[in-house]
Amino acid sequence: VVTATPEPKALAAIPGLEVVFSINAGVDALLREDVLPATLPLVRLVDPAMTAAMTEYVLGAVLACHRHLPLYSAQQRQSIWRQLPEKLAQTRPVGILGLGELGQSAAARLTANGFPTQGWSRSRHDIAGVMCRSGRDGLDSVLRSSEILVNVLPLTPDTDGLLDRLALAKLPRGAWLINVGRGRHIVETDLLAALDEGGLAGAVLDVFEVEPLPPGHPFWSHPRILLTPHVSAPTSVETAARVIAGNLLGYEAGEPLRNVVDRTAGY
Ligand code: NAP
Repeated sequence: VVTATPEPKALAAIPGLEVVFSINAGVDALLREDVLPATLPLVRLVDPAMTAAMTEYVLGAVLACHRHLPLYSAQQRQSIWRQLPEKLAQTRPVGILGLGELGQSAAARLTANGFPTQGWSRSRHDIAGVMCRSGRDGLDSVLRSSEILVNVLPLTPDTDGLLDRLALAKLPRGAWLINVGRGRHIVETDLLAALDEGGLAGAVLDVFEVEPLPPGHPFWSHPRILLTPHVSAPTSVETAARVIAGNLLGYEAGEPLRNVVDRTAGY
């Protein structure tokens, strides 16, 4: 089966089902007991086209924050001519939470664009030009020194609500937050408080606790939030079909499946 988010029990009802391929990179919606039978291997989508799209979005969002574009846009709506302090990319440290397929590519692009880049992952990585950290101390140090923080983690029991009031308070004053992981990584009320009283400059958000974002949600009209409707790295039917078909053909020829989800880790 090739699927996104099947109805509970739908997969269990298919006789002889051997493998489930997700059409998404994130599999949090599939990894529910009533959705995915415990014995079935689940393959997530790793598609270079998706990685390229995410890399592009992250670079665009980081540049927009670095050059205060959301703030200038808000000023424009009020006819305010006010120059904000500008500085070079080389002096704007960026942190990336998640150094997998998407995070590593984004980190490489940001480094190439001159941003001092650090990243955080579960296991310790060694990536040229990127300061790699892991563990709770590693998270603390990334938070404390990132003027722009990009979240591209998978949603698991360990990362759910990770960016709460305490975590956001560790960011330097005037920092920016970019979320392209999942909405539930951020405690939305804590983000609003950090924007309104905690010294966070602004946020670029592509994912939300509830999608579509409900009408009247405070994010819609917040002057320092730039939001996009979950488009940072959409699945391309054409390229994803090729990736999935290639994996399936290999499997049928006796090769091991690639990109099988580790059910214990949750991603
Ligand atoms: P991936 O290759 O599985 O990488 C996940 C990264 O997160 C890895 O570096 C992993 O550490 C790290 N990680 C996982 N749990 C952690 C924890 N508890 N503490 C610290 N680090 C942890 O995933 P990916 O392909 O890069 O995708 C990441 C996520 O992006 C997806 O799960 C999805 O939620 C999101 N996404 C969003 C969109 C969109 O349009 N907004 C599109 C695609 C994907 P290790 O390296 O040590 O394993």
